[in-house]
Amino acid sequence: MSKLGLLKNNCRLVILEDIVDSEDEPDLVNSLEINTKLSPSKEKPDSCTECNSYDITGVVVMGSIEGIIFWECDDCEEIILRYPQKVTEKYLQLAKGLWTNPSDWGYVPRKNFN
Ligand SMILES: [Zn+2]
Repeated sequence: MSKLGLLKNNCRLVILEDIVDSEDEPDLVNSLEINTKLSPSKEKPDSCTECNSYDITGVVVMGSIEGIIFWECDDCEEIILRYPQKVTEKYLQLAKGLWTNPSDWGYVPRKNFN
């Protein structure tokens, strides 16, 4: 199974583009196909509610909150929320457009060097 993002300290570091089809999606949580019927789990779940796997990884989205935003099963890719759906949505929205606006990051185009 190929996984996007960078694995670090048992967390997977991703950018929003890695996990959603389109950043323009008004409802990012929905586009992730998260099982929203499950109640959010602040602590890392012991096992996957879908396949009972113990391989649960915390997902960190760059540009969003610091730290894990939701959990993902390494085996079946089931996503388990860490925060309520509305809160997760708000956090994901923070990561929008992160890489499309380099000037926000103090990036100086090469032609401006002199
Ligand atoms: Zn699973």
